[in-house]
Amino acid sequence: MATGAGPDLLTSPVARRGLVLILSSPSGAGKTTLTRALAQRPEWQLALSVSVTTRARRASEIDGQHYRFIEREAFEDLRQRDDLLEWAEVHGNFYGTPRRPVEKALAAGRDMIFDIDYQGTRQVRSKLRDDVVTIFILPPSMAELRRRLERRAEDSPETIEKRLRNARTEIERWSEYDYVLVNDDLDRSFKALEAILTAEHLRRERQTGLDGFVGGLLSASASG
Ligand code: 5GP
Repeated sequence: MATGAGPDLLTSPVARRGLVLILSSPSGAGKTTLTRALAQRPEWQLALSVSVTTRARRASEIDGQHYRFIEREAFEDLRQRDDLLEWAEVHGNFYGTPRRPVEKALAAGRDMIFDIDYQGTRQVRSKLRDDVVTIFILPPSMAELRRRLERRAEDSPETIEKRLRNARTEIERWSEYDYVLVNDDLDRSFKALEAILTAEHLRRERQTGLDGFVGGLLSASASG
């Protein structure tokens, strides 16, 4: 996949807080592909949040990499112990974000990327507020969404129908997100995501080191 100009601020002399980048969309809109493509680019240094789920593993999925696949009882244990930052029931299965990796990454000033639904997005936003940036990915059409789900050929016809029915409910949440993009071309969408990330890095309130940096600039110019 093509990349844009690349991140500039990772080498900036100004310190900044880590951010939480959340991508949501109905199944099949391309969000998982985009999330993983971004997480795999070393220059962005994004830590990918790996969710736990009670859903059955698809043939192409690797435990611990795409999800941690667990039994319903183990999920319930995590929830009871407050080890999940957020959780939700989606398409009849349970999904949740382990809390500790997120806290660790943010404390170290690292950015994190999440592939979660609108219910989880609301919970993360209410807990982490200023550091959360949300992006909703729309399919170019419902017909294309169906084609993508069928092409993936990893789910049963009943599961595909259920996901298409649920897609409507999910799409209706678009207005809760900071950014919305129609994914009709993966390369273009990827570049748009990089642009969003760059702009969010440059937000004044996120650059915690600006006071010191500007102070240094001015005192150097006063003495020089
Ligand atoms: P899939 O079964 O296709 O992998 O995911 C189904 C939906 O669950 C997707 O919309 C995905 O974003 C969402 N999802 C995946 N992990 C989590 C999670 O940890 N929390 C929440 N709330 N949703 C998740």
